[in-house]
Parts: sequence; structure tokens; C-alpha cells
Amino acid sequence: MQSLAKAVPEDLYPFIGKVRNFANKAKWLVEIGHTIKKNSNIPLSMDELTALPGIGRKSANVIRREAGEAPEGVIVDLHVVRVAPRLGIATGADPKKIEKQIMDVVPAKYWDAGMAMSFLGREICRPQPKCDICFMKEYCAYYKANR
Ligand code: SF4
Repeated sequence: MQSLAKAVPEDLYPFIGKVRNFANKAKWLVEIGHTIKKNSNIPLSMDELTALPGIGRKSANVIRREAGEAPEGVIVDLHVVRVAPRLGIATGADPKKIEKQIMDVVPAKYWDAGMAMSFLGREICRPQPKCDICFMKEYCAYYKANR
């Protein structure tokens, strides 16, 4: 954070130049650095995190998780948007609505399930799902409807 506080967006291009939307992300990261200035000032509340540029609920949930904080929500990225409706615990494609639906049916102590679904989506429940090797098929609405 101390380095970001002194950086300009172009300084970050060599590191994140292959990331989608990197120019905006570099701008947001530098803005965050200039605002926060020190690692010890990194906020951990959902409200403070989502007030920072480029930080939505998904990133805030990830940051809180990495910091060892108890989850205030469920991580919903593009993988979870695909996986949760297939499993039958959410509908639609709006991440905020999907997060709310998951929070309504999954006890808070299991809200880390968002990260688990994200990894499942990256490895197994791909756009072309590998149901044959999936350990969730016993519980999965999509699998039950399509087998
Ligand atoms: S059984 Fe198939 S559709 Fe269901 S979660 Fe696994 S890979 Fe995805």
C-alpha cells in the first residue's frame, strides 16, 4: 500500500497488463493507495471496503476472507453465477441477487461456500460441465435433470 500510494497507474501496467480492464484497475488501485496510504489502514468492514473505487461485494468478501475475518456475505464471481443456479440454490444471473439467495438458504457458518463454488466452477463445473467426475452430482439439480 505504501508503494501504491506513490505510484501512477502506468507503473502497474507491467504487472497487470494482461488482466482484463487493466487500465481501469490500475487507476483504481492507485486511487486506493493514495487514499489508504499504509497497509495498517486497510479497512475490513464491508461498508468501508465497498466505498473504495473498483471494490464491490465480491472483492470485499475476498479481502475479508484473506484477512481471516468472518464472512459478511458470499463470494459470487462469474463461476458462482454459473454454478449456484446449476446446483439449484439460486436463480438468475445477477450476482447481488444470487448472493442474497445463497445467504438465505446456506447457514452463515458455511458462507465460505462461495469460494468453494468458484473453485468448482473453474475446475469441474465449466461452461461444459464435467459432471462425470463431479463430487456434487448427488445434490445437483442440473445433473438430476439432465442425466
Ligand atoms: S454435477 Fe455437473 S452441473 Fe452439477 S455442479 Fe457438478 S459439474 Fe456442475
